[in-house]
Amino acid sequence: MHVWTRFTIAGSFGRMREASLEFLRNLVNTPSPTGQEARGQRVWLDYVRTWAEHISTDAYGNCVAIFNRGGSPRIMLAAHADEIALAIHFITDDGYLHVLARGGVDPAIMRAQRVRIHSSVKGVENVPGVIGNVPPHLARDESANGKPPRIHELFIDIGAKTRREALKWVQVGDLVTVAADFDLLHNELAVARAMDNRTGTFAVAETLRLLAEARKPIAAEINVVSNVQEEVGLFGIRQIAYSLQPDAAVIVDVTHATDYPGLSKAQHGDIRLGSGPVLTHGGCNHPDLVRRLQSAAKAAKIPLQYRATGRGGGTDTDAIFWTRGGIPSALVSLPNRYMHSPVEVVSLKDLQLVPQLLAGFARALKKDAAFKTVI
Ligand SMILES: [Zn+2]
Repeated sequence: MHVWTRFTIAGSFGRMREASLEFLRNLVNTPSPTGQEARGQRVWLDYVRTWAEHISTDAYGNCVAIFNRGGSPRIMLAAHADEIALAIHFITDDGYLHVLARGGVDPAIMRAQRVRIHSSVKGVENVPGVIGNVPPHLARDESANGKPPRIHELFIDIGAKTRREALKWVQVGDLVTVAADFDLLHNELAVARAMDNRTGTFAVAETLRLLAEARKPIAAEINVVSNVQEEVGLFGIRQIAYSLQPDAAVIVDVTHATDYPGLSKAQHGDIRLGSGPVLTHGGCNHPDLVRRLQSAAKAAKIPLQYRATGRGGGTDTDAIFWTRGGIPSALVSLPNRYMHSPVEVVSLKDLQLVPQLLAGFARALKKDAAFKTVI
């Protein structure tokens, strides 16, 4: 047993099941860069296999696990498996690697990070590297460190002396993630890169487990999905939503917590870690689905936080509510501090409530329940 399994996990919300915590840690610590999610998807599939009646994968690596196959309505509970990354696109004569961004990478926080290059060179797997930084002594009189770099100004040092040598280990197109693994903070908080959105794929997998372990019949068919390529344009969810054609869908993703210095609540709302999952009103969020999720939370005494949206919310929900004839959709979010950084912080207390909420929602659906706007 590692120290962290004993440290701060027992809290007012009760101890997280040890196998679930181990799954979360494995899921987060397995890099799943957008467009190359296979390794992470294997970890997810290995876990859901125990409880699913049927599992499948598609051409681009979207994964589906089904509970109560043949039930009605057909519900999709989906979360994206991919994480933001860098891609090598130029190697200098002296062996440094220049990159471009895959998804919303913030160049301002990338200098001096340790990285892993997911090499496609035969026989090579992870290549360690660092993103170079000019020391303050040398940068004092130069403007280079005074302002955030642009992405092409970053460079990765893997220890190679020449381009020829670098090409033994990496090649153009290889993806890069920051090396920042799972750790625990006080008050049931956890930190890692890619809490966006491995917490989501964890939550939908746990929903499947809760439903299967309860051994109680339900009316709906539940399709639990770990989909690819969200960070570069909400692509994987459109593929799988089109294929599955569910009667309704709930997306699980992270949302911005605003409970730390430097943020305006007037501008960004009031979302806190440890105060429960977040429901969004407006935009792509179907009012009937939102209402059903609220009732499920009330019945299970799960605290909720609320967010309003003007237009899109920047999640997969934006893409599927106008897929096919319009799939009734809603978003359940986990508050996340410092999103798209190596130190994304979430509350395990909030995280445990998400599968409870989704399982309660699924159980409450009556046979052939329809999701319509009353006119
Ligand atoms: Zn993201």
